[in-house]
Amino acid sequence: MRVSERAQRTQVPGSAGAGVPPGVASVLSVLRSSAVVVDAEDRVLRASSAARAFGMVSDDRLVLDELLAMARLVRRDGEIRETEIQVGRARGRSRADGRWFAVRVAPLGSHGLVLVLAEDLTDMRRTEAIRRDFVANVSHELKTPVGALSLLAETVESAADDPEAVRRFAGRMQYESVRLTNLVQDLMTLSRVQGDEPLPDMRPVGLDEVTAEALDRCQIKASSKEIELAVGGQPGLKVRGDEELLITALRNLVDNAVAYSPERTRVVVSTRRVDDLNIEINVADQGIGIPDAEVERIFERFYRVDPARSRQTGGTGLGLAIVKHVTTKHGGEVTVWSKEGSGSTFTIRLPLLEPAAETPAAPLHTTAEI
Ligand code: ADP
Repeated sequence: MRVSERAQRTQVPGSAGAGVPPGVASVLSVLRSSAVVVDAEDRVLRASSAARAFGMVSDDRLVLDELLAMARLVRRDGEIRETEIQVGRARGRSRADGRWFAVRVAPLGSHGLVLVLAEDLTDMRRTEAIRRDFVANVSHELKTPVGALSLLAETVESAADDPEAVRRFAGRMQYESVRLTNLVQDLMTLSRVQGDEPLPDMRPVGLDEVTAEALDRCQIKASSKEIELAVGGQPGLKVRGDEELLITALRNLVDNAVAYSPERTRVVVSTRRVDDLNIEINVADQGIGIPDAEVERIFERFYRVDPARSRQTGGTGLGLAIVKHVTTKHGGEVTVWSKEGSGSTFTIRLPLLEPAAETPAAPLHTTAEI
């Protein structure tokens, strides 16, 4: 729930500052915290709308027993007190429900008035929890290849007299270190595109070049499964963006299309101008598809429909999170259509570069649209 600043300034109807020492009301109105003033009889003289909206005050009473008890103690001994409280947690639901507040209760003047200030910590707590989860996930993901490498190193040592075994284990060490490098590379890319700062390297970028480069980087993997990579759609389209990041995003989609498709199928990348303002890049495969219930989650970091399969294909679980953030950073969005057993089509939609200037004189037509 968000309560606007204007709303926070609103006073209790019918109790506009009554009994509150002069000047205090205006000070409270500029504070970001929810504020409540109670009088010597525990009646609420003034409450910000946020305090009401968050369920701390109802009519002229402090609803939460904990706050009321604190206000009485403070009135009695004049000591400032602090605590953290959770408001609006539904019965039987997890601790993540409801909102968290840091509360300070202090005496106000000498007539038994007490001030309750509550600062909303909910968003901070959520961000902290997400960060903690992410660090735990990263550590877990790093542990696997690092553990495998150290085991392999031990095995190589003990197989020093068997050149064939050494060669085999060295190959597996190489595989694990590639996995580790990919993971670190993806983490670095993700941290670049996750923040709020704009990308520094935005210039006109041709989609033909982005597509060619992305396909080039997937060619070896595709050939090993005899998967045909085809290009179609409208050539010559341009967007404003960071070329390397756009290539990375498209390569991730094509990489997945290849990884989650059976041998001897087809992956098609096509570009088209949707309207005066936008272009689309489609990546369509004839692969295993994604169950309806999972489609929502696949763009989350480290989320995999089938973790064992993703590990087998060398996936980091970060590919689609990168695609999502890169597209968002470019003012666009990524969507997916998928049918289990039939295939998936991922679509990146981006703003067209200088739409007015780019409008061709002749009507648009699509060449070899697939
Ligand atoms: P990964 O490294 O595991 O491929 P991604 O973030 O790229 O991680 O993708 C997340 C998950 O989404 C994958 O593990 C897979 O289950 C599913 N997925 C992504 N692309 C496709 C696709 N083209 N076809 C089927 N499933 C896909």
